[in-house]
Amino acid sequence: MTLDKDALLTRIDAKRDELVALTQDLVRIPTVNPPGDAYEACARLLGERLRKRGFAVEYLRAEGAPGDKDSHPRVNVVARMEGQGSGECVHFNGHIDVVEPGPGWTHDPFGGVVQDGRVYGRGTCDMKGGIAASVIAVESILDAGIRFPGAIEISGTVDEESGGYAGVGYLASLGYFSRPRVHHVIIPEPLGVDRICLGHRGVWWAEVETRGRIAHGSMPFLGDSAINHMAAFLHLLEDQLGPKLRDRRTAQPVEPPGARVSTLNINSVHGGQVEQTYSVDDQGRPTGDLPSPVVSHSCRTVLDRRFIAEETLEAVKGEIVGMLDELKATRPGFDYGVREIMSFLPTATPRDAPVVDATARAIARVLGREPSYISSPGTYDQKHIVRTGKMNHCVAYGPGLLDLAHQPDEYVGIQDMVDSAKVMALAALQLTRGQAA
Ligand SMILES: [Zn+2]
Repeated sequence: MTLDKDALLTRIDAKRDELVALTQDLVRIPTVNPPGDAYEACARLLGERLRKRGFAVEYLRAEGAPGDKDSHPRVNVVARMEGQGSGECVHFNGHIDVVEPGPGWTHDPFGGVVQDGRVYGRGTCDMKGGIAASVIAVESILDAGIRFPGAIEISGTVDEESGGYAGVGYLASLGYFSRPRVHHVIIPEPLGVDRICLGHRGVWWAEVETRGRIAHGSMPFLGDSAINHMAAFLHLLEDQLGPKLRDRRTAQPVEPPGARVSTLNINSVHGGQVEQTYSVDDQGRPTGDLPSPVVSHSCRTVLDRRFIAEETLEAVKGEIVGMLDELKATRPGFDYGVREIMSFLPTATPRDAPVVDATARAIARVLGREPSYISSPGTYDQKHIVRTGKMNHCVAYGPGLLDLAHQPDEYVGIQDMVDSAKVMALAALQLTRGQAA
């Protein structure tokens, strides 16, 4: 087996150019989300390549899922290669969508330019470089003629950047991320070649509305300003809740360390008249719409509350509602509503899960050092695999630096991709052998 492994690693080294070319091909398909451009072309590029290698390939459009429409169909691809004999299935899942390029690029964001040992472009690091590394890893196993039991799957899924409901969420609802079909999942997100991400903090998104009474803006005392009520609530969030959250530390190894506490972001505030842009000409005369004087009867804010494994979702909600109730009891005229938008619990794959062990051993073998174990401040598709797939044998491991994700001049290091492909290949071989190995 030792000899086989060495030959396999050498083979992956030899596929360096092929790995770069596949990354470039993927990056040159601008799968920008929103709106979800060119998903099908990207899914088919992966699917047809793997079909030629003998994989059974399925294209699954998430009809009826959020975001799916004929102009922008949410097409996912799942490819499966059966091994010889009974064993377990390891699944490599990558999201094919990328965020918009935004300003500030010095390279063509969809050019796949190679320079100084890096491939540049939107999605190189997050996470088409990781997808390409997983494909090359598995193809190298096949090329080397290494027999494995169980099965290996590779999927390209959509919409991770917008919640993953039409991607991993949809496939999970169909059983694609559950036993007995799948036993281990590796998500090649850009966490770094020597880091294994075990899970993420929880999230609760909610919209809070304060209510008031409309009146003429010249006589605000005749109305009741919902914006003033909101200001009182926001003040409490900052003064009362903020210090509490900063003191609430988690034992999970969240990276960066600043995120090893509970956090709250006020995502948006909207109150009063609909948003307009007002302008005057050089004489001071209005050139467009003008506001009319009203006291605001409604103000809404969207809260993005990230919570730690040591908290419960009920406590997180109860804390906010408790503050609103306190205002209702003490502040004349205060009234509110809460609409929950989304929630996911914190996830943490056990350190002794086979997928963690296999990835750690492979990192030690390929890089000659022990991995570090981390947790993510934000959620990613693991949330669907845990909640809907009911499976917590899942890690995120892949090439690239998380800090570069969504930035201008995003890139992935070519040596990182080669190294992570080696790690993924060795981990897959260990995992397909199952518990008996
Ligand atoms: Zn990503």
